[in-house]
Amino acid sequence: MAELKLSESRDLTRIERIGAHSHIRGLGLDTSLEPRDVSEGMVGQTQARKAAGVILQMIKDGKIAGRAILLAGQPGTGKTAIAMGMAKSLGLETPFSMLSASEIFSLEMSKTEALMQAFRKSIGVRIKEETEVIEGEVVEIQIDRPAASVAASKTGKMTLKTTDMETVYDLGTKMIEALGKEKVQSGDVIAIDKASGKITKLGRSFSRSRDYDAMGPQTKFVQCPDGELQKRKEVVHCVTLHEIDVINSRTQGFLALFTGDTGEIRAEVREQIDTKVAEWREEGKAEIVPGVLFIDEVHMLDIECFSFLNRALENEMAPILVVATNRGITAIRGTNYKSPHGIPIDLLDRLLIITTQPYSADEIRKILDIRSQEEDVEMSEDAKQLLTKIGHETSLRYAIHLITAAALNCQKRKGKVVEVQDITRVYNLFLDVRRSTQYLMEYQKEYMFNEASMVDGRED
Ligand code: ATP
Repeated sequence: MAELKLSESRDLTRIERIGAHSHIRGLGLDTSLEPRDVSEGMVGQTQARKAAGVILQMIKDGKIAGRAILLAGQPGTGKTAIAMGMAKSLGLETPFSMLSASEIFSLEMSKTEALMQAFRKSIGVRIKEETEVIEGEVVEIQIDRPAASVAASKTGKMTLKTTDMETVYDLGTKMIEALGKEKVQSGDVIAIDKASGKITKLGRSFSRSRDYDAMGPQTKFVQCPDGELQKRKEVVHCVTLHEIDVINSRTQGFLALFTGDTGEIRAEVREQIDTKVAEWREEGKAEIVPGVLFIDEVHMLDIECFSFLNRALENEMAPILVVATNRGITAIRGTNYKSPHGIPIDLLDRLLIITTQPYSADEIRKILDIRSQEEDVEMSEDAKQLLTKIGHETSLRYAIHLITAAALNCQKRKGKVVEVQDITRVYNLFLDVRRSTQYLMEYQKEYMFNEASMVDGRED
């Protein structure tokens, strides 16, 4: 019983992890940026993938900032998939943030503040910090009594733990000579420069060696090569501008980053941070890593947001903006004007446009194969052919959705492989858009609020 539960819960987690784009692992390009036919979960759409690859290369080279790309194409032609592919191909240090345009409309903060936060989440800052580390051969000496007994090492009462007793004894002697016995305590870290013989006290150490744990702190001798006592080491932190904003703007500081309750951030705070980052850059302590901000369903932004984007892109620290839409010529939100993709012409003019094309039956088949594998669904050849036909005639998304449903149907009849009967069954259970519309046309009179059948708000 317990075993069963365990495997059930494991399966559930697995199912949860399969998102709409979880099969996408990159753009599937070779080293010369040529798209492979099927690679990294990507199928076809070669022109768009190649174009996205060129942009990606420019981002990686750090050559561009403040550019914007529009992915335009019919629904289900892989615009989001391509953006995901770009995200997966970027290194961990390059920030990638993603939102759907409608997410910026909330009561919590103004839409331009939400956009500003999204922009700053997509700009990375590499902060270089120099720390002093001691390099060299570490020789540990275990002292079984506190401070005073170190001095006793001269008389051989010290307990030593090292492979080279002679060196340590010699070091201990030198140490005491150089620093004086009252200055040396059990647990001190001492550096001895081999070349000059200079001895420096570096600090305290409480090393936790299993054998000597019970005996308290240990003294560490650090023998440095080449006359160099300490070496500088560069530690690099990568944060986003948004993270710096949040840490500096709220009393709860960085915790707000986890709760997401960041609220509006005052312009002065951002100005101060920008000035500070500019200083760091001049001093060579920090560099800006322009990341990628992906806004899906961009036609949902309104005219104010579009003009915000126009300006934000001109900022020296702007990220690469990738937007996507499946709209044709339509109204710009917040106005009565129409424009291609519902985007004002002045912003469109700044965008490099990548178009996606509808898939051939062969490509649909390959995508369905990849999705079936991703969902651990085995399917007979006939079933695959039928599902491909359905995908071609209805939509790729609908066909993808039928995979899980058909697999459940197969499981219910205790089958192992999804057969034609499973596909047919779910095809009849769940309508695609075209059949649903047809059904509506036939029965619209029987639906509520159907204007044709309403008189004074009541059905006749
Ligand atoms: P919409 O305009 O409706 O937002 P879209 O163009 O963003 O659609 P996607 O969501 O990217 O379309 O694609 C629909 C599904 O098909 C997703 O599960 C996606 O991962 C998959 N898909 C689309 N194109 C490809 C491709 N070329 N290779 C592999 N999978 C793909």
